[in-house]
Amino acid sequence: MQNLRIPGPTPCPEEVLTAMGQQMINHRGPEMAAIMKEVAEKLKYFFQTKNDVLVLTGSGTGGLEAAAVNFLSPGETVLSVSIGVFGERFAKIASIFGAKIIALNFEHGKAADPALVKKALAEHPEIKAVLITHNETSTGITNDLKSLASVVKGAGKLLMVDAISSLSSIDLPVDEWGCDVVVSGSQKGWMVPPGLAFISVSPDAWKANAESKMPRFYWDLAKHKASIEKGQTPWTPCVSVIVALHKALAMMEKEGMQNIFKRHQKIADFTRKGVKELGLTLLAEEKYASNTVTAVLATEGLDPKKLLKVMREEYNTVLAGGQGPLEGKIFRIGHLGWVTENDIKVTLDNLKLALPKAGFRS
Ligand SMILES: *Cc1c(COP(=O)(O)O)cnc(C)c1O
Repeated sequence: MQNLRIPGPTPCPEEVLTAMGQQMINHRGPEMAAIMKEVAEKLKYFFQTKNDVLVLTGSGTGGLEAAAVNFLSPGETVLSVSIGVFGERFAKIASIFGAKIIALNFEHGKAADPALVKKALAEHPEIKAVLITHNETSTGITNDLKSLASVVKGAGKLLMVDAISSLSSIDLPVDEWGCDVVVSGSQKGWMVPPGLAFISVSPDAWKANAESKMPRFYWDLAKHKASIEKGQTPWTPCVSVIVALHKALAMMEKEGMQNIFKRHQKIADFTRKGVKELGLTLLAEEKYASNTVTAVLATEGLDPKKLLKVMREEYNTVLAGGQGPLEGKIFRIGHLGWVTENDIKVTLDNLKLALPKAGFRS
């Protein structure tokens, strides 16, 4: 088996793949309703929320678009707090649908500074909502969302969070931190294939939804809410991935949420330590280093594109490259979802052999 070490899609356990291979069922029938109801309950548990959690058929980006079009109106001002490619994507979606974006962009590789968010909110009282990435997958940085959320909620703004690559793997108590809208995606930490996005919606967000004038049809969350109460979705969902998710959630429940967080912490620590022992440098300041993906600087002559090729062709290991301004400057190791310390040990052992073949002079 290939050692797939990218930050999504991530490998899936055999039980999940078997569940996914089952014969189709009626998406409006009683079997599906029973599955949907359990899935919705368990998602709420992992989102640590009493809010509605809706299941959308689409990738994570679809979830971000749903967030943008359901709670805002054209012409409304939105503060985009971005620390990388995915933060910029969220802002771009809101902007395309007519929101006025105030961009608070931080250097790729740094975390967002709550003090600067506070300042921006004070300077622009017209801001209605704030977009924040919890875990910026392109740079391997986890924002201090607790502090950022406290600033945003202190100012009484709607908080919309891209937690696509963190929720399920990194602690994000949605209700405790007051996050109004939170998006995740199936192929990241949830141990299932791509195809689903999850979105939680607070009572305040539903109020905004009632007034929101952005155009929407497929992503109309009021329709999703009415349907999920019957154990359905308004349109045909990707049934197979929902059945797979049902299995994965049972496995996650058995492992325990806190144990999952601890496993990701431990494996991330092991990854960072191993990378440094090879003479490499981390992009992130360790305080903000992500527990789901590690970004490594291409120093000492290392050609990261060559490294990815050597790792893939000679060592059966697939790593990720850099994106946006970091293309050609970093490589990334994914360690989320169905991952063990041994998967990373094998990756590091192979890296040690591959690095000199990709120009690295240790
Ligand atoms: C993967 C990811 C996305 C995009 O999700 P898709 O499923 O590829 O549409 C957005 N934001 C973050 C933080 C991600 O990790």
